[in-house]
Amino acid sequence: LIQLEGIIKRYKNLTAVNGVNLAVYPGEKLVIIGPSGSGKSTLLRSMNFLEEIDAGVIRFEGREAGYVHRHGRLHLDRQQVVCPLRAEIGMVFQHFHLFPHMTVLGNVMEGPLTVQKKPVPEARAIAYDMLAKVGLSDKRDVFPATLSGGQKQRVAIARALAMRPKLMLFDEPTSALDPELVGEVFDTIHALADEGMTMIIVTHHMGFARELADRVIFMDGGVFVAEGTPQEIFDERMQNERIRTFLSRII
Ligand code: ATP
Ligand code: MG
Repeated sequence: LIQLEGIIKRYKNLTAVNGVNLAVYPGEKLVIIGPSGSGKSTLLRSMNFLEEIDAGVIRFEGREAGYVHRHGRLHLDRQQVVCPLRAEIGMVFQHFHLFPHMTVLGNVMEGPLTVQKKPVPEARAIAYDMLAKVGLSDKRDVFPATLSGGQKQRVAIARALAMRPKLMLFDEPTSALDPELVGEVFDTIHALADEGMTMIIVTHHMGFARELADRVIFMDGGVFVAEGTPQEIFDERMQNERIRTFLSRII
């Protein structure tokens, strides 16, 4: 579904992502783990074209996506990114990023209305469906400030789903939540996984990673250090010193 080749992203003289290759298959559940600063968020943001990469190729459904080559350099192709690609790839962030001045319904309708230019009744119908899916139909008319963290994150998931994406990116979707609210967000992600959604999840919850993932990637220093099934990464971690050290710090 999405394919990355030689992705490099620098911030001034710091290389956050240093040559990443990855192919994610339709329906796959990929979990990325790794220490703070290893480039996980930068990589997800690059996949969603929120960051302009310095080198590499991104293919979406087999086609080169998001960039034009000019004067030997890559330039984000804003026409392509803002409309078709942003709709195909949904992203959920650690800190929700809801629009505070809009109701829950308004937040979920926003993408279909402004990005996809759908008529209001259609956008509303989609938003109703997505809020039902995350179990928040009764919160349609309230403002985000009145919601719990878990509910905010479920609204953020509904908002991303309203664009009917083919790929969902989750960047530590539960790490800003109180422990008792983590479960409801995981359950929502699980339900989505069961429907066959392709997803890439960055998380520090290893139990969740193990349950959900088809494949786990351990990232450090801007590169993929290890990759395998959850069993290979978690149960045979004695094989890799760096993974072992990382896991011993968080479990
Ligand atoms: P965490 O687990 O803490 O979220 P991460 O793996 O997501 O970490 P990134 O946020 O991708 O790591 O950061 C990778 C590196 O790039 C870090 O050294 C970070 O300081 C740097 N970095 C990230 N965003 C920026 C930015 N906008 N400007 C400058 N440097 C940045
Ligand atoms: Mg991060």
